[in-house]
Amino acid sequence: MTAATLHVIIHSGRNMIVGTSNASAHLFCGSLIDGSGGPIQERVLVGIKDSIITSIDREYDRKHLPPGTIDWGDCTLLPGLVDCHVHLFMSGTANPAVRSSQLHYTFTEARPIIAGHLSDQVRHGIIALRDGGDYGGHALRFKREEMPGMLNPVIINCAGRALHAPGRYGRLTGKPPENGLSLAQSIASDPESPDHIKIINSGINSLTEFGKETRPQFSLQELMKAVKTTENLGLKVMVHANGRLPVDAAAQAGCHSIEHGYFMGRDNLKLLANRRIYWIPTAYPMKAYTGMAKKGSVEADVALKNLDHQLNQIRLAREIGVPMAIGTDCGSLGVHHGDAFSEEMRLFAEAGFTIPEVVRLATVSGARLIGIEHETGEFKVGMPATFVVLKGNPDALFDSLKSPERVYFKGMRLA
Ligand SMILES: [Zn+2]
Repeated sequence: MTAATLHVIIHSGRNMIVGTSNASAHLFCGSLIDGSGGPIQERVLVGIKDSIITSIDREYDRKHLPPGTIDWGDCTLLPGLVDCHVHLFMSGTANPAVRSSQLHYTFTEARPIIAGHLSDQVRHGIIALRDGGDYGGHALRFKREEMPGMLNPVIINCAGRALHAPGRYGRLTGKPPENGLSLAQSIASDPESPDHIKIINSGINSLTEFGKETRPQFSLQELMKAVKTTENLGLKVMVHANGRLPVDAAAQAGCHSIEHGYFMGRDNLKLLANRRIYWIPTAYPMKAYTGMAKKGSVEADVALKNLDHQLNQIRLAREIGVPMAIGTDCGSLGVHHGDAFSEEMRLFAEAGFTIPEVVRLATVSGARLIGIEHETGEFKVGMPATFVVLKGNPDALFDSLKSPERVYFKGMRLA
C-alpha cells in the first residue's frame, strides 16, 4: 500500500459493512477469545449495529442462525491487536544497503515506507500502534499530515524523536536535549508535541558478551523531573532500559512503561508489579537475530542466551503479577511489521501464559497502556466492532495470524 492508497482507505470509507445505521448485522464464529483473559467462548452469535457490538450469545445453535448471518463457524474471533513498540520508519529487512539508507531518509523518502508498514500491520490484524521514535520524527509527521481524519484505519501514537543523553546510544531513534536544555526542559519545549515521551536510559544488549549491563543515561533526579513534566502535559513516558540500574532509576522515577528490560532482575520485576508499571519485553528481536546470525557464531550464541534469559524473566513476571503488553520492536533486524506480532505472542505462550492470557496482553493490556481502552480492547457489548477473524480453532492462533481471514476496525473492513 502506498501513501495514496492508504489515503483512499482513510477518506472514502469504502468497505464499510457490518451493521450500518440502516440495519443491524449478525455474525457467527466457532470460538471467541474476548480479550478479558477469561475462558474461550464457543459458537458465538454477535449482533452489530452502527458499527457497535450490540449482543453476544454464547453456545448458539448453528442450525438456527438469523437470516443473513455471516457464518464464520470454522473460525476464531479476537479483538483488534495492539503493538506497543514499533518503529514505523524502519524495515526488518536484512539487506545492508536498505538498512543503512534508512538511517538518512528524508520525510519524502520515508513516507511511502511508513504507509507500507502500516498496511503490513493492518493485514495482520494490528489496529493500534505505539511508535518508539525515529531520528527525523517521520512517523509523527506522517500521522499529522496523512492521517488527519476521523476514519483512520488504524490508531497510531508516536514519540516523535526519543531523548537520549549526549554521546550515548539512541541516535537512530532520537536526539539529545538541545541548546543546553535539561531533559525535562526539552520535553516541556518540544514544538512537535508528540503523543507520548520516549526516554532512552541504557545501551542496547551486547551480542558479544552475555548479560553485560550499561550505565543509566540519566540520573534519578533528571528522570523524576522528566516524568513530572510529561504528566503535566497529560502524557505518558516510555523508557528504553536494560540492566538493573537503568530500569531501577526509571521505575523509581515513576515512568509508565519499561521497554525491553533485559537483565533487569527480580527486584525490578517486583518494583514494576508494586508500582503498576508496564513491561514490554520485546523478546522476539533476539529470536530473529539468532536465526539471522551466522550459525555457531558468538553473536548467535549470545542472542539465544539473551532470549532464554528474557523468557525466564517473563515467566517470573507472570508469577509476580507485573502488568505487561505485547511490543515487537519491529523495524529491528529480521523483525517485520505485522508478521512479528504473532511471534512475540508465541514467545509469551512459551513462557507459560495461556492463550486467553496472551490475547489479553495483545489487546486489552496494550489498549490500556496507550489509553485507548474505550476505542478498542475487550470484545463486549457497547464496544466498537473492531476484530480479527482467523481460520481454524484457537490452538492454531499463532499460525493463522500470519494471514487473517478478515480484519475489521470500527465496523470497517480493512482486510
Ligand atoms: Zn525500539
